[in-house]
Amino acid sequence: MSSRFSGQTYLYQSQHYYNLGDKLSKAVRPKSRQTQETAKHGLGAMSILPVEVIQMTLLEVDLKALLQFRAVNRHAQQLVEGLHEYKAVITHAQLALRGSLRIGAQITLRALNDKLCTTKCDGCGDFGGYLYLITCQRVCFRCICENPQFLPLTEWDAREILGLKGVKFAKFAAQITVVAGLYGYDSTLYSVKSRFRLLDYESARDFALARHGYSEAMKQSVSDRQAEDLRRANEAIRVKNLQISDSSRHRPQLTRLRKWDISRDEGREDWRRFAAIVVQPPLNKASGLVELGFYCVGCRDMEAQDEYFGPSPNAQSMRQFTESTFATHLQIYGDIQNDKHVMPH
Ligand SMILES: [Zn+2]
Ligand SMILES: [Zn+2]
Repeated sequence: MSSRFSGQTYLYQSQHYYNLGDKLSKAVRPKSRQTQETAKHGLGAMSILPVEVIQMTLLEVDLKALLQFRAVNRHAQQLVEGLHEYKAVITHAQLALRGSLRIGAQITLRALNDKLCTTKCDGCGDFGGYLYLITCQRVCFRCICENPQFLPLTEWDAREILGLKGVKFAKFAAQITVVAGLYGYDSTLYSVKSRFRLLDYESARDFALARHGYSEAMKQSVSDRQAEDLRRANEAIRVKNLQISDSSRHRPQLTRLRKWDISRDEGREDWRRFAAIVVQPPLNKASGLVELGFYCVGCRDMEAQDEYFGPSPNAQSMRQFTESTFATHLQIYGDIQNDKHVMPH
């Protein structure tokens, strides 16, 4: 961030929303073969292909398979490390890489590198500081909280709400296995203990539409939602006013989630929205540096106000700005004096 807006901006959210990124500790440092000798072993049948063809193929396999290939022998390692996309991801997208491996997201090196090197949210086009790893899309905080596209579904949801009864989702491409832990924000944290599947909403919906057409899927949806509203009323699963204690001896007792617990979208209070999210600042390829979005000091107080999270187009408090979007923001909301926007008279 340049000094142009210093004093008017800050870099880190004061409220922390627990996401997948918080559950990832160990960095992925693929072992290097230290020996100086050149590759002794070839690539078997693959060695008849030109190097360029092999490398293009490597961009299109999922990250787990890519790392497995890299470990085959020194020749394979050199091929993978020769990809500039690989260097960029290992250097600048560790959380996304680790996250996608942990949840079993099927994303390719090309897809991850593309999203690493773009600033725009796939939901709304604003600056996006996060990645949604089920389908590898860049997202802004607001879209994480509000956009239906980024609300993953449980298998129950997909079966009952989208009418996909009898479908086995184990081989469904756009799915992940949730990493156990806390998700969401302090006052409405969920503790997820069981490992279960979440499906990308749009992929599951498209699958349902292809299977039985629009009208059937939607008819199902309405009656099931009503039934689910009733069921939900009896489920006291949300942990309200939870204080996280520093001492592990006073770990809060949280209720175990069951697989039918959720079907409705609870916006920012819906833990599923954070299960496949990691912080991932975009990489500026020209400068070789990641670009941190920043927040507006003048809008900071709005963080606590609920109306921010309504469908309000003025919601700005958790918006991450770039220099150019911040300049526009100041034009619309007024310059900042004493940490408040002041509209020109
Ligand atoms: Zn967005
Ligand atoms: Zn502002």
